[in-house]
Amino acid sequence: MSMKDEGKDDRRPLTKLAQAGRRAEWTGMPGQPGGIVSPPVWRASTILYDDVAHLRRAAGSSTHERLFYGRKGTPTAWSLADALTEMEPGAAGTMLFPSGVAAIACALMAVLKPGDQLLMVDSAYDPTRGFCERMLRPLGIETIYYDPLIGPGIADLLTDRTRAIFMESPGSLTFEVQDVPAICAVARDRGIVTLIDNTWATPLFFPALARGVDISILACTKYIVGHSDVMMGSVSASADWFETIRQSAYLFGQMVSPDDAWLAARGLRTLGVRLKQHQDSALAIARWLVGQPDVARVLHPALSSCPGHDLWARDFSGASGLFSFVLMGGDEAARAALIDGLDHFGIGYSWGGFESLALPVDPARYRTATRWDGEGPVVRLQVGLEDPADLIADLSAGLARFRAARG
Ligand SMILES: *Cc1c(COP(=O)(O)O)cnc(C)c1O
Repeated sequence: MSMKDEGKDDRRPLTKLAQAGRRAEWTGMPGQPGGIVSPPVWRASTILYDDVAHLRRAAGSSTHERLFYGRKGTPTAWSLADALTEMEPGAAGTMLFPSGVAAIACALMAVLKPGDQLLMVDSAYDPTRGFCERMLRPLGIETIYYDPLIGPGIADLLTDRTRAIFMESPGSLTFEVQDVPAICAVARDRGIVTLIDNTWATPLFFPALARGVDISILACTKYIVGHSDVMMGSVSASADWFETIRQSAYLFGQMVSPDDAWLAARGLRTLGVRLKQHQDSALAIARWLVGQPDVARVLHPALSSCPGHDLWARDFSGASGLFSFVLMGGDEAARAALIDGLDHFGIGYSWGGFESLALPVDPARYRTATRWDGEGPVVRLQVGLEDPADLIADLSAGLARFRAARG
């Protein structure tokens, strides 16, 4: 929904967060441009034209940031899309979707056709695998899963039919960091398109297109919205791919409500300060967990024990607030004893909001190319904006319950 002007932009990311998407024509009225700080909610389905000639002109226009019909958006959504494009150096534009999964599905459908092969990281978000198996496979598109630590070795998996590589780094649940630049270099040599689910880092901590990726996908539901009250996804793409993504989004009838776009844009303004706090608190908790005898391993990309940590240190400028830890022994009931009694962590799916969450996760269920061997059950934490000392005290009591239940 937004096409970025070519030209040099040397503003730093935090400055962009405050300014992005606030074009004068979206924040004012003709003759009085730019007065409103945040682009307001423009609700519309029908757009009225002066006469038939006007209607024909609008229909023939190739610009998409023009009022035409509600499905193509209004300035509220264009502003958010434009802001996300500004946050992703190298992006020509961004399309918005009603959920992260919808964004992933549309991006895959846009780049693949029957007979193609897709390489998918083995530590991908489970619903992404579900789409590959239950939607793409019956259409004649084969998905081959690869080890997240494969790096340039991905070249060995390529065939004449390989059309796309889909990465997620760090991986869902287990947080292995991939060598994205190396994988992209191999892909570029062979004319293969690369996609990444960049929800964990956001462009603030990992500018995916600048690292070589063609298409970057966010579940905006998580950190962009940041308040656990809106579902949304986005796809930002390089100039080579944006038009393809834009056409596919239109063909699938994908759009977001102006109210949701407005809430997501409100969340985006504070992404920098929120991520910084999520990072600091999560790291404090991760380091504390490392010292606990009932914790076998902490899976956090900023810890040197995490597979791919060196790549994280090379390619990322920060770590967000989501990570996992592996318990030392114990069963499902002992893990539940830990989680059930927590006072400050909610039990629920999703993440990226201001509130902490704890979730039992079972990585072995979602692997086919690699094996997951844990010393015990795994807990995933979303560390929110509460005082980390309260969260540590809560987890400490939780580990005592785990110990008692494990026996
Ligand atoms: C939550 C999530 C998604 C999906 O986003 P929804 O908005 O819930 O559809 C995609 N990828 C990752 C890594 C996620 O955690």
